[in-house]
Amino acid sequence: MKILLIEDEKALSDALCQIFSKKRWETFAAYNGETGLDEALTGIYDIILLDIMLPKLDGLTVLQRLRAASISTPVLLLSAKGEISDKVAGLDCGADDYLAKPFATEELLARIRAMTRRRGELIFDDTLQVGDLTLNLANYTLSRGDQRVQLANKEFEIMKQFFYIRIPFSTKRNS
Ligand code: CA
Repeated sequence: MKILLIEDEKALSDALCQIFSKKRWETFAAYNGETGLDEALTGIYDIILLDIMLPKLDGLTVLQRLRAASISTPVLLLSAKGEISDKVAGLDCGADDYLAKPFATEELLARIRAMTRRRGELIFDDTLQVGDLTLNLANYTLSRGDQRVQLANKEFEIMKQFFYIRIPFSTKRNS
């Protein structure tokens, strides 16, 4: 899973990156709205975690510009502003969910799982799925039904990219 984290609190950003990396999720950390918007417009991400109060460009503006550019990546707003009005404004701007700081890590992870599931791209903790193919990120195996192939590092990295861009694999057997 690839996560774009747009958060200017370095300590929080670092802590989240560490948690995500333990789950083998790739994270790009942007520390201001401008960099975050550029990255969201050009990169491919499964989810965007977006702070509201950000230098250069605030989170709601980033969100509006993303949606205006037809980028439909799920966005979870993270903000110390826990007021109802901010929550409504965020959802009105096209956010998929909202989490007020401070939050428990477990709740954040649960929201991320729910949001990526909702998209129809089932991403369990350590596996990526496209069609009937499963790539296990923990033991580098590719499987379909009861067939399983152990991948070398390089093969794994290449395969992972295919999964991220969701290449429409042929799932028909040759026999
Ligand atoms: Ca902030």
